[in-house]
Amino acid sequence: MKTHARAVVIGGGVVGCSVLYHLTKYGWNDVLLIERSELTSGSTWHAAGGFHTLNSDPNLARLQGYTIGLYQELEEISGQACGLHHVGGITIATDPDRMDFLKAEYAKHRYMGLESDLVSPEEIGKLSPVTNIEGIIGGLYNPLDGHLDPSGTTHAYAKAAKVGGAQISLRNRVLELNALADGSWDVVTEQGTVRTENVVNAGGLWAREVGHMAGVYLPLLAMEHQYLVTEDIAEVKALDKELPHVLDPAGESYFRQEGNGLVLGIYEQDCDPWSVDSTPWDFGHELLPDNLDRIAEPLEHAFHRYPCLAEAGIKRVINGPFTFAPDGNPLIGPVPGRPGFWSACAVMAGFSQGGGVGKTLAEWMIEGEPTSDVFAMDVARFGDYATPDFTKSRVVENYQRRFAISFPNEELPAGRPLVTTPVYDTWKAQNAVFGVGYGLEHVNYFAASPDEAYETPSFRRSNAFATIGRECRAVRHDVGINEIHNFGKYIVSGPRAEDWLNGIMANRMPKVGRIILTPMLNPRGRLIGDLTVARISDDKFQITGSSVAQGYHMRWFQQHLPDSGVTVENVSLTRIGFQIAGPKARELLSRVTGGDVSNGAVKFLSVTEMDVQGCPATVNRLSYTGDLGYEIYVDAARQMDLYNALTTAGQDLELRPFGMRAMMSLRLEKSFGSWLREFRPDYTAAETGLDFFIDFDKGDFIGRRAALAERDNPPDRHLATMVVDADDADVWGDEPIWKDGRVVGFVTSGGYAHYVEKSVAIGFLPVPMIAEGAEFEIEILGRMRPARLIGEPLFDPEGTRMRG
Ligand SMILES: Cc1cc2nc3c(=O)[nH]c(=O)nc-3n(C[C@H](O)[C@H](O)[C@H](O)COP(=O)(O)OP(=O)(O)OC[C@H]3O[C@@H](n4cnc5c(N)ncnc54)[C@H](O)[C@@H]3O)c2cc1C
Repeated sequence: MKTHARAVVIGGGVVGCSVLYHLTKYGWNDVLLIERSELTSGSTWHAAGGFHTLNSDPNLARLQGYTIGLYQELEEISGQACGLHHVGGITIATDPDRMDFLKAEYAKHRYMGLESDLVSPEEIGKLSPVTNIEGIIGGLYNPLDGHLDPSGTTHAYAKAAKVGGAQISLRNRVLELNALADGSWDVVTEQGTVRTENVVNAGGLWAREVGHMAGVYLPLLAMEHQYLVTEDIAEVKALDKELPHVLDPAGESYFRQEGNGLVLGIYEQDCDPWSVDSTPWDFGHELLPDNLDRIAEPLEHAFHRYPCLAEAGIKRVINGPFTFAPDGNPLIGPVPGRPGFWSACAVMAGFSQGGGVGKTLAEWMIEGEPTSDVFAMDVARFGDYATPDFTKSRVVENYQRRFAISFPNEELPAGRPLVTTPVYDTWKAQNAVFGVGYGLEHVNYFAASPDEAYETPSFRRSNAFATIGRECRAVRHDVGINEIHNFGKYIVSGPRAEDWLNGIMANRMPKVGRIILTPMLNPRGRLIGDLTVARISDDKFQITGSSVAQGYHMRWFQQHLPDSGVTVENVSLTRIGFQIAGPKARELLSRVTGGDVSNGAVKFLSVTEMDVQGCPATVNRLSYTGDLGYEIYVDAARQMDLYNALTTAGQDLELRPFGMRAMMSLRLEKSFGSWLREFRPDYTAAETGLDFFIDFDKGDFIGRRAALAERDNPPDRHLATMVVDADDADVWGDEPIWKDGRVVGFVTSGGYAHYVEKSVAIGFLPVPMIAEGAEFEIEILGRMRPARLIGEPLFDPEGTRMRG
C-alpha cells in the first residue's frame, strides 16, 4: 500500500467506489480506497438493486437521474456489466391525496425535462398484468426506473476508477485517523499508515465509527429491512416482456420481477433499528434472521395487489441493515470543524443516489464547491442538536414514512420538542402550533382553541387558513409580536472584522449604527447567503441569516477566517427576542424604552443598543413583514422580561402574537425572497435581484469576478412575482409556469397573501417575458391556473410603512 495519497476513501461499498471513480473522472489520480474486507461487504451486497428518479427535491431527483444515466458509461469504461434492467416503474395512487402528490410530481418533471407520465388504472393493468387494479385511481409512470446487479455495479465503479489511476487496498481495516498540525491526516490501517490531505468517510454501516475516529458524531443509524424473492411463477414466465416496478405506497411495498419470479420489499411500521450503539467490526457477509411476522400485514396487502404472489413459493428472504440520516437524505460534504475530513454517508438508496453523491463530493473536493445546490444532502444541515436519541427517533419515523406523502405544511413529531426558548410554555398556553427548524421549536400560528391546535397536512389550504389571515391583519392594522429566535445569528468581532466581512460579503460593511442587506457569494457568483449585517460598534457586527443554514454558514465563516484579528460566534440560541411589527410598533417601543424612538432618532435600517425596562437590548429597525418594525434582541435569560414588558405595554394597542406562517404570507405581499426558496446556491445575485446590494467599488470580495461578468452579460432569467387565480390550493414551490402551451419557468415559492387577499407566486421567468401584466399559467395539482405578472409589491409599493 502506498504511504501518501491526495485522497483516501474509507469503504468499498457502492458509495465509496463511486466517490473514487468520480475523483479520477475529475482529475485526481493519486487516490486510494481502503476496504476492511472485500468490495460490497457492508449493506451493498444484499441490496435489491432497484433505482428510480422520483424525489420531491428536484435537485436530488436530478442527481438520481445522473446516477441512472451513468451506468452505461461505467460499463463502457470498466468492461464490467452492471446487469441493467431498464423496465420502468409505476407509483400507484389509491387515495386522492396521493393522486394530488403524483400530479404535483408530474408537473415538476415537466420543467425538469423528465419523461414521466400520469397513467390510468387500465393503463397500469396493461403495463403490469399481474397487478390487481382494484382500488387504484391512477399512477405515475417513469420509464427510467429499473434495477441492476449491486455487486457488478460496485465492481464497475471500482474498475473504472482503477482505469483512471486509483488504487484499492482490500482486507485492510482503517484503525485510526490522526489530524496533523499542517492540515493533513494520518490514516492508520492494519497494513500501515497513509498520509493524505483528504479523508472520505464512506464507511456505510460503520460510518459512525469512522466519524468517531475523526472526533465527530455523524447523525445516522441503520435499520433492518426485508425483501423476499419468490420461486418461478407460471404467470410471470408466460409474460412476453419484463414487468415494470410497482411501488404501492398504501401497501408500503415495492415490487419487481426477478428472473421468472418476483421480488417484494416492505417498509413496515413495526420496524427495528439495528446496532443502535455501535456496529460490530466482525459483521460481514451474513444476513439478519427473517422476521416475517413483522411484515404479515403488508404481505396480506401485497397478496391482494399481486394475487399470483399468494401462491408463490418463497426462494429466499433477505433481512439486512442499511443506514439513514434523520431526514432520510445522505450526509455529504466537508464535516464542519474537521478540515480535510469529508462525509459520504447515510446513502439509503445507493443505486439511485450513489452516482450523484460521488459526483457531488468529487466536485466539492476538487473545485471547492459542488455545481448544484445540494443543501438537502449537506452534512452541515444538522447541528449539535442531532444527538443519538434524536437521530434514533427521527430515523425510525423516516423509515415508517418511506412511502408517506410529504405535505408541504407538515411538521413531523418524532424527537420533539428538542430545543425550546424560555417563552415556549407561554406560547403553548396560547394554543401555539409549533414547527421546527435546526432542532428549535418555533410558532407556526396560534390556534383558536386547544382542540384546534393541529394543522391538517395538505397540499390545499389547511384548517389554519382563517387563523393565519387574522394574524396578518393584526400586524397590518395594529401591531404583532413574533419570536425572532429562528434566525441564525452571529457576532463577528475584532480589529480585522470589517475588512474580513468586506472580503466575504458582496455589500460594503455599514457605518456604526447602520444595517445593510448583503448577498454572500461563492467564487462562481452563486448565492450562499442573504444576510443582514448590523454594525454595533467599530469592531462588532451582528449578522442574521437563515436559521437552518447555521451549520452551513458557520462552516463557510470558519473556512475563511484569518489566523488572528477576527472571531465569529454563533449566538443563535443565546441572543433571542421578539420582533414587533405594524403601524403601532413605534408607539409600543417608545412605551418600553422611554426614550426617543421617533423616525429621526431610530431610522430605518439602523441598529441601536437600548435599555428595555432593565434589559440591555440590541434593536434592529427593520422587519421581514415589510411593515414598520423592530427586532429586539436580548440575552436568552432575559427573554421573558422582554416579553412581559412588551405584552403589558401593548395591551391597549391590540398587540397580537403571530407565527411564521403569517410572516411568510406578509413577506409575499412585499415580494421578499427567502433562503432556500428564492435564494440558494443554484441562483446568482443578478438572477434574483440581490445584485442591487452588491458594492462593486469597495474592492475585492469572494465572487466579485463572477458577479462582474454577470453585470456585463446579464442572465437570461429573473425572479418575478405573479398573482394567481387560485381556488383552494396555492403554489408551494417547484410548479411549472406555462405560456402558450410550453413550460417557460418554475415557481420558487408562494402562497396566499392574506392581507391583500391574493394568491401569490414568485418564480423564474425568461427576462424577455417579464413585463407588468404579462399572462401565464401555473400548474397547481394538475390544473392550469391563470397568473398575471405584477411590476411592484402588492403592499406598500413605495415602502412608506417600513421606512416611515
Ligand atoms: C435489504 C436491503 C435492500 C436494499 N435495496 C436497495 C435497492 O433496491 N436500491 C438501492 O438503491 N438501495 C438499496 N439498499 C440500500 C443500499 O444497500 C445502500 O444504499 C448502499 O449499500 C450504501 O452503500 P455504502 O457504500 O454507503 O455502504 P456500505 O455498503 O455499508 O459500505 C461501506 C463499506 O465500508 C467498509 N468499511 C467500513 N469501515 C471501514 C474501515 N474502518 N476500514 C475499511 N473499510 C471500512 C465496509 O467494510 C463496507 O464495505 C438496500 C439495503 C438493504 C439492506
